Amino acid sequence: MSADANPGPSGVPAMPTAALDGLRELYAELSRELAALAPRCELSGRCCDFKKSGMTLFATDLELAALDASTPLRAGGDPELCPWWEGGLCTAREGRPLGCRVYFCDATKSAALDLLSQRYHDRLKRLHEATGATYHYSPFVRRVRELASP
Ligand code: SF4
Repeated sequence: MSADANPGPSGVPAMPTAALDGLRELYAELSRELAALAPRCELSGRCCDFKKSGMTLFATDLELAALDASTPLRAGGDPELCPWWEGGLCTAREGRPLGCRVYFCDATKSAALDLLSQRYHDRLKRLHEATGATYHYSPFVRRVRELASP
């Protein structure tokens, strides 16, 4: 296992460089599969309105380390909402976690998206195992707030 790690600002666990590189590749492959599947996005912003949907988004600390590298973690105002959800739009698209990337409200693609989500989450777990990154999978908004306010 690689002992190399990104420096990691305070609060964000340091992660092996190989894990961060692997995550970038995983996201890139997912992006290509999503382009082929072409689920519809109406830019309604409903998917990020956790208060209305009642959904809880989960992510791993490795994903939060990658997000932090592109958009530093911040606590935000409302403890139930994602701090990057502004004006109904995502302002952290480059670093957003897997759960955000595979969620679309296109009902015609929901079965395929569920399978894609499961397959990539399995890959994400294996990436942690292969690189020695600690697997900590927890509610996204709560964990971002914890790590942004150590
Ligand atoms: S990171 Fe972006 S897509 Fe994910 S919940 Fe926040 S605003 Fe929505």
